[in-house]
Formats: sequence, structure tokens, C-alpha cells
Amino acid sequence: MKRGLYVGRFQPFHKGHMLVIQSILETHEIDELIIGIGSADVSHDLRHPFTAGERILMITRSLDGLGIPFYVIPLEDVRRNALWVAHVKSMVPPFDIVYSSNPLVVQLFREAGIPVHSSPLYLRESLSGTAVRNKMLDGDAWKDSVPPEVELVVSEVHGIERMRQIAKSD
Ligand code: NAD
Repeated sequence: MKRGLYVGRFQPFHKGHMLVIQSILETHEIDELIIGIGSADVSHDLRHPFTAGERILMITRSLDGLGIPFYVIPLEDVRRNALWVAHVKSMVPPFDIVYSSNPLVVQLFREAGIPVHSSPLYLRESLSGTAVRNKMLDGDAWKDSVPPEVELVVSEVHGIERMRQIAKSD
């Protein structure tokens, strides 16, 4: 039994994240996947508009029918990077490999002796959390960049209205 961990902020979960997960599955190197939702304690600001619970809904619904068991687990940030891997390990099922292209995440897991695989970046200009959030805020077309289930969650929680409200100055 081999289990992999894919960590991200997923603000929001988008098609770039989906492509990474599909490429992980195509290698057939894991039997189960853990999705760790980083910065779970942060929401309602422009870089982190969605709560951990909202991101759980986005990911769980988007991965319905994935074909292997998966676990979506919120991970609060900790102030000391040197302690973060231990914190993550205390929160998720045991895992054998980490998937990330985030340089800090890669460094911290490698220092802890855990193998890390970095996927290529897919259409990074349009498929990034920053690009999707900017489009949401500016009223540009963003729906094509996310799975349909994410569009539904954003609508259910009035996510665009939230972002525009918190972007205002007093
Ligand atoms: P993210 O949602 O931006 O990205 C998640 C992963 O998907 C990354 O590996 C990224 O490279 C990849 N990705 C994104 N778009 C892609 C695309 N178009 N094609 C292919 N891959 C793509 O999240 P992130 O910034 O990597 O999240 C890391 C999380 O870990 C954050 O929440 C951070 O706070 C947390 N963290 C916390 C600590 C601490 O608490 N001390 C330390 C390190 C990391």
C-alpha cells in the first residue's frame, strides 16, 4: 500500500491542480491520495478568499469518481517552517511520497527525508490561483479555469460578492 500527499492552498482549486492529480494517477505509483489543504486557518482575505470547509467541498466534489480512495485534510499553518513537516505528519494518514512544485514545500519535505515529486506546470499563466482570483475580482472569465463543481461552490457561498466586498476600502 503506497499513499501520496498533495499539498496546496487551493484558493481556489483549479484545473491546473486537477491536471497534477490526473498525472499522479497515470503513474500508478500510489494506491491512495491525501490532499492537504494548507493555510486552513486563513480565509476572507484577497489571497485566501475561501474557508477550509469551502475548499473541502470544492475538492471532494471535483474528485468524485477519482478511482482511488482519497482524503481531504485541512492543515493550519504554523509559525516555524522547521516544524511544519512534523505538524503535517501529525494531521494526515502515513504517506510515502509528496507531490509539490512549491520550492519551500519541496525543501522542507526533502530535508525530512521524504521523497518529493514535482509535476510540470500546466498553463501556469492562466492556471494559477492568483490569475483565477484576479479574474473573479475583475469580472473577467474565470469559470473555464476551474472544474464545474468549483464554480458551483463559489456560487453557493457567494464567493465573488465576498471578494468584491473585502476588496473595498473604508
Ligand atoms: P497552490 O494551491 O498554489 O498550489 C498547490 C500545488 O499545485 C503546488 O505544488 C503548485 O506548484 C501546483 N500547481 C498550481 N498550479 C499549477 C499548474 N497550473 N500546473 C501544475 N501545477 C500547479 O498552493 P501552495 O502555495 O503550493 O501551498 C502550499 C501550502 O503549504 C500553503 O498553504 C502554505 O502556507 C503551506 N505551508 C505552510 C508552512 C508553515 O505553516 N510553516 C510551510 C510551508 C508550506
